[in-house]
Amino acid sequence: MSGTFSEAEVLGGIEKGLLIGGRFRAAAGGRTFAVENPATGESLCEVADGSAEDARDALAAASAAQSSWAATAPRERSEILRRAYDLLVERTEEIAALITLEMGKSLAESRAEVAYGAEFFRWYSEEAVRIQGDFAVEPGGSGRIVLMRQPVGPSLLITPWNVPLAMPTRKIGPAIAAGCTMILKPAEQTPLTALLLASVLGEAGLPDGVLNVVTTSDPGAVAEPLMHDDRLRKLSFTGSTDVGRKLIASSADKVLKTSMELGGNAPFIVCADADIDAAVDGAMIAKMRNIGEACIAANRFYVHADVAEEFTSRLTARMSKMVVGRGIDEGVEVGPLIDADQRDKVATLVDDAVGRGARVHTGGAVPSGPGYFYPPTVLSEVPSSARMVEEEIFGPVAAISPFTDEQEVLRSANATRAGLVSYVFTRDTGRAIRFAEGLETGMVGLNRGFVSNPAAPFGGMKQSGLGREGGRAGIEEYLELKYVAVDVDR
Ligand code: NAP
Repeated sequence: MSGTFSEAEVLGGIEKGLLIGGRFRAAAGGRTFAVENPATGESLCEVADGSAEDARDALAAASAAQSSWAATAPRERSEILRRAYDLLVERTEEIAALITLEMGKSLAESRAEVAYGAEFFRWYSEEAVRIQGDFAVEPGGSGRIVLMRQPVGPSLLITPWNVPLAMPTRKIGPAIAAGCTMILKPAEQTPLTALLLASVLGEAGLPDGVLNVVTTSDPGAVAEPLMHDDRLRKLSFTGSTDVGRKLIASSADKVLKTSMELGGNAPFIVCADADIDAAVDGAMIAKMRNIGEACIAANRFYVHADVAEEFTSRLTARMSKMVVGRGIDEGVEVGPLIDADQRDKVATLVDDAVGRGARVHTGGAVPSGPGYFYPPTVLSEVPSSARMVEEEIFGPVAAISPFTDEQEVLRSANATRAGLVSYVFTRDTGRAIRFAEGLETGMVGLNRGFVSNPAAPFGGMKQSGLGREGGRAGIEEYLELKYVAVDVDR
């Protein structure tokens, strides 16, 4: 294995039990499940397979810790986050190797994820001491309006496999800052990074019971009983729109405060007046970051007919040179997809588009050999009837279609249930503003292929979600606004 740490060293240092009340322990009945390396298809190790009973224990621990945790000084919560940030940065190489082993992305991308994920702790360490209220004189003059913000309470955090460190830190950072206790249920495919993160937070001084982690192969069995328990007050979910929709329905029972970061279907629009260098650079990031397995991955490229050929050939030249291989090998740029299902889904979407008339410029076929690899692929002339125009590809496939009219491309870009992010490349300021205003997405990348920033509100419109993560808005998701009416005349 490349990098500073051997596989045995990385895996050997990780607790593989459930974290409940500050102690790692076996699941009820001693059940475990295997974590697979997507580059080889082989098992890395076994972790505890939590059940409904374990989930209830985790909620009991979170609930018991809530009032004392809420009463801690904001400065104390801030310093725990800051120490955890320092520890994550110090341990970048080891954590990056772990992310790569269980998720597949290249070491370079995993290192970038550690930097990005840790940054949520630094940002929210700074926000923890800036939770403010408000004070106003009633318009009638006799009373006072006092507003305060208080932690919402025990929160269930459910995260996906594609960004195994930063999706948890994007939730845990603001929850700690706000004074909420938590039960984290990481994805079945990437539980190890979450367990390592929990150990780091313990080392940083997070009190017992504030963060509990339940790994499981049966997410419904763990989540459902919690959502029907009066002690839980919040659900924060990142994952597919289909699962998110089901969880919103379940959360209605106890009227849980919910945050939903769901699927995307990002349009990437290149206008005739765009800086093509910047557009190709932006496309490489928006498409190839995380092997295309990102909710903010560019899914549909709309390129003005005047520049479509140049853009396609330059993107093809870059994509076809990318080094595909085991992410753990230094120099590899494109690792395997997460599993056989995901790889087969990408292959099916490509075959469907080609069957409907799309042209393949590079890639387009599953290679032989172990692991779930799919090559960087560029398709042009993708018709609007192709399945990949409406479905998230979640793989390294750029689907290009030409356009000629600004209004027409805006309509195409918006013709989806998703509304997470869009990308626009143009040198014309007026056109840039018209697109930014007209695109039905929670985020717009203007002349850049990357929008994620811990200091900015990340989130979607339409069926891409509810609420925001990151920035000042992110902490509001973990706070209740309380209004106190005060009479000052008596
Ligand atoms: P997923 O299948 O929806 O799973 C996400 C999480 O939900 C996993 O922890 C999963 O557990 C859990 N889960 C599945 N069924 C559940 C149930 N019935 N009750 C409770 N939890 C349940 O999504 P994924 O395939 O892991 O991730 C890919 C999707 O996430 C894509 O659509 C992507 O766009 C979206 N995503 C969105 C954002 C964003 O910020 N908007 C960020 C990243 C990813 P198991 O692992 O055990 O199945």
